[in-house]
Amino acid sequence: MTSHPVTGHHRSRRDILWGASAAVAGGLLAGGPRRLLAASATHKVKLGTAEITIVSDGVFSMPRSLVLPDKPEADVVELFKAHGAPMEIVAETNVTVIRNGPVLALIDTGAGPDFMPTLGKFGDRLEEIGIKADDVTHVVFTHAHADHFWGVIDPLGDGSRWPKAKHVMARDERDFWLAPGIEDKVPAFQKSMATGIQRRLKELGDFISVAQSGEEVAPGLAMVATPGHTPGHVSVAVRSGNEELVVLGDALTHAAVSFGAPDWRWGSDIDPDQAVRTRKALLDDLANRKAAVVGYHLPWPGLGRVERQGNAYRYAAS
Ligand SMILES: [Zn+2]
Repeated sequence: MTSHPVTGHHRSRRDILWGASAAVAGGLLAGGPRRLLAASATHKVKLGTAEITIVSDGVFSMPRSLVLPDKPEADVVELFKAHGAPMEIVAETNVTVIRNGPVLALIDTGAGPDFMPTLGKFGDRLEEIGIKADDVTHVVFTHAHADHFWGVIDPLGDGSRWPKAKHVMARDERDFWLAPGIEDKVPAFQKSMATGIQRRLKELGDFISVAQSGEEVAPGLAMVATPGHTPGHVSVAVRSGNEELVVLGDALTHAAVSFGAPDWRWGSDIDPDQAVRTRKALLDDLANRKAAVVGYHLPWPGLGRVERQGNAYRYAAS
């Protein structure tokens, strides 16, 4: 990946992403957000012949009591300080858009209007930067959690907002969420989200095709199994020429914890122990290959690399 953005930030629109009226939604937003953020909402880089655009769906608060329920405060403070991470976790939602020749692919779709009031901006922002719904050729999901998947639903009608695109999800992921009794197979705070995921998957039905990890789902895009956050979670490897970018989804979610303490259990992972094994293998591989990464919830725009640091790693933003 080139080290400098080809067109830089799109600054024509300033958004107040946090509002005083933010409501508790999906169980993730506890307490009021505490910052006003005027953010650039799109960021472009080149990867070989491909143009990569990161588009923000918004930001949301991720309470430490939820994601690190069993960690002593002193340990958390020490780790966060060492990595320069703010003590209050504010998650970005960095959606990756890839244009390469005839391919115009979305990796995840944001949350849509029904999950949290501070999210759901991706679809409209895509139109604002001139990408028409019918121009999108592929929509690839890393997993089906609300903040990645629910934005697929057209707020003005039925079915997908991108009706001409091929939609792809890992088979294990789709099958997990379609199983009967799904609300009992997820952490307590994800129960209502789980039934919402299932309802949307049923609504879309065969419109979402399934693939196995390792499969090329569009020219230059391959699914890589990174299970644990959800059972069928995948990351997406993007190749163009000799360059490679790995769209991580939620395999690595926090700049201090996921990189600096990859064996800490993370409260929003459905299978925390599997997620730890996945993180360690993924970090080792990405550090070896020096591949560029995009993290969906990493500090905006989530582009960087994995570097070794002592017995663990650090996130090196690019
Ligand atoms: Zn997520």
